[in-house]
Amino acid sequence: QERYFEGTTYNYRKDGSSYVVHWNISPVRDENGKLTHFVSVQQDISEFVRVARHNQLLARALDATSDPVVVTDAHAHITFVNSAFSRVTGYPVTEVMGKTPAMLRSGQHDEAFYANLRKTLTAGKDFRATFINRRRDGSIYHAEQSISPVMDEKGRITHFVSVTKDISDRVEKEQGLIHDASHDTLTDLYNRRFGEQVLSSSFRQARALGGVISLILCDIDHFKQVNDRFGHPTGDRVIVNVAKALRHTVRGRDAVIRWGGEEFLVLLDDCPAEPGQQLAERMRARLEALQDEEVGRITLSLGLATLAADDTLEQFIERADTALYAAKQAGRNRVSVAP
Ligand code: GH3
Ligand code: MG
Ligand code: MG
Repeated sequence: QERYFEGTTYNYRKDGSSYVVHWNISPVRDENGKLTHFVSVQQDISEFVRVARHNQLLARALDATSDPVVVTDAHAHITFVNSAFSRVTGYPVTEVMGKTPAMLRSGQHDEAFYANLRKTLTAGKDFRATFINRRRDGSIYHAEQSISPVMDEKGRITHFVSVTKDISDRVEKEQGLIHDASHDTLTDLYNRRFGEQVLSSSFRQARALGGVISLILCDIDHFKQVNDRFGHPTGDRVIVNVAKALRHTVRGRDAVIRWGGEEFLVLLDDCPAEPGQQLAERMRARLEALQDEEVGRITLSLGLATLAADDTLEQFIERADTALYAAKQAGRNRVSVAP
């Protein structure tokens, strides 16, 4: 009872409205240490409480927002992240406080991108861009991000606030649509339409730079019988397995196109006749070795053509087709090379 004391109370005015008082009581003693008085200082802290409440409300509101929010100080050290940030990035709050948002870098933007970001922000302007960021688990997400400098009354930058919209779903959907437009649904190889685009750009490039390209056109032997004996679904399954086998035989950069029902066109960039023929032979052998559990042996006939000096693209494809026809005529399960 003789010590310093402080507290906060609600007081009420005559009109019934409340105000918050912060008060303290200090004992006053005389020279002998004897308690003589108490001094009480009261301070109306209503405004302070209002601001604190307001800040708490803002913090809660930011936390409830479904879009990630990050606040950093002027040196880009994180001072606040909301729960959406943790949900999207996988970083718990405790792990990011005091760090910089550089942890989210995916390596998919060049230095110029970040230089532009810094330049825009230090000029006091908002920076908006689609960021490709990396989550804590290493996975990538796309975010439409807007970063704004926060200034004090004197116009000095004290903080940056970044609001992010995770648009990964939309980007994935778009990428899915692009994939679907260029790939065959059954085999996931390039479809004919996209394959033709790949062919024509490869052809133009080979013509412009004097490159050597080869084509292998292949067709499954006696495939009608597979359908007739085992049914269309089995036929489909065989086509999928043949597509996989072809994809696994060629080099990564070679394009494999589902050219027709059970006909495939392989584009070998930068590949002269001889290695092209060896590859075609490997494809043939691999198919022959691949025993289908239901159908048994499946064979493939292949026609190889290497781009000739005076070929148009149509003629080039036609030569591969003629070679394929020759392979069929010669007894199937073989490679024929266009003259
Ligand atoms: P060949 O050795 O001369 O090639 O004989 P083939 O029986 O394979 O003759 P062809 O290549 O002309 O026959 C293609 C057959 O493939 C006709 C068609 O019923 C079947 N086919 C085409 N597309 C598909 C498909 O997507 N699924 C299934 N199951 N069958 C298909
Ligand atoms: Mg066939
Ligand atoms: Mg055919």
